[in-house]
Amino acid sequence: MRSKVVAGNWKLNGSLAGNESLLKALLREIPRDNPVACVVCVPSPYLAQVRALLEGAGIAWGAQDVSRFDHGAYTGEVSAPMLVEFGCRYVLVGHSERRTIFGESDAIAAQKYVAARKAGLTPIFCVGETLEERDRGETQAVLARQVDALLQAYGAVGLERGVIAYEPVWAIGTGKTASAAQANEAHAFIRARIGAKDAQVAARLPIVYGGSVKAANAAEIFAMPDVDGGLVGGASLVAEEFVAIWRAALGR
Ligand code: PEP
Repeated sequence: MRSKVVAGNWKLNGSLAGNESLLKALLREIPRDNPVACVVCVPSPYLAQVRALLEGAGIAWGAQDVSRFDHGAYTGEVSAPMLVEFGCRYVLVGHSERRTIFGESDAIAAQKYVAARKAGLTPIFCVGETLEERDRGETQAVLARQVDALLQAYGAVGLERGVIAYEPVWAIGTGKTASAAQANEAHAFIRARIGAKDAQVAARLPIVYGGSVKAANAAEIFAMPDVDGGLVGGASLVAEEFVAIWRAALGR
């Protein structure tokens, strides 16, 4: 059976006081041992605070980006070994906001994935098509290109202990959600693409859905056979919403 993951992406949000009250609210509801990984991906300056609040609890934490380099003259970068020092277990890689706003290419995203895995982190590798690409019938071609960059950089075995997030760009932060069937179709395509290289790795790989997941739509999406949880942006900033989404993933 595949493991399931519900990860919150706080994006560029947070404050010391706000983080503390959000995390304390989550800690009241998320048990220490649970079958669905619950993760918060926070802005890097808050990692020490998050570690202090979550250490030993049932919520893991991570960052939203990682350098492809381990150390050196790369001003502004944060490396995977540094994230490990702050207790991170997860890191988002290749989020569409990194790809579109900051010009991150498929190849760079794949290199970041490799850097994260080499440091022992679980990368959550984000893929997904824009609305224009979907309208042109290019969804599968885009997903294939993004996944193939990863397979070329690291091989199918390198995807072990990773997570893929299918996040249609048109659904992120827009309130529009892919239908459960659309999400499952994309997840099944991604799984088959990886399965053509290594069936066992593909069968075990968690593929989560992201794009305006809310308490109101999570259960329907998470019930699909190829959907193994969610990557949650806006709704992860509201404790009751995030807990309800995490509970929806428990329901399968
Ligand atoms: C995200 O940031 O990855 C995301 C899916 O955002 P939202 O849930 O707000 O659409």
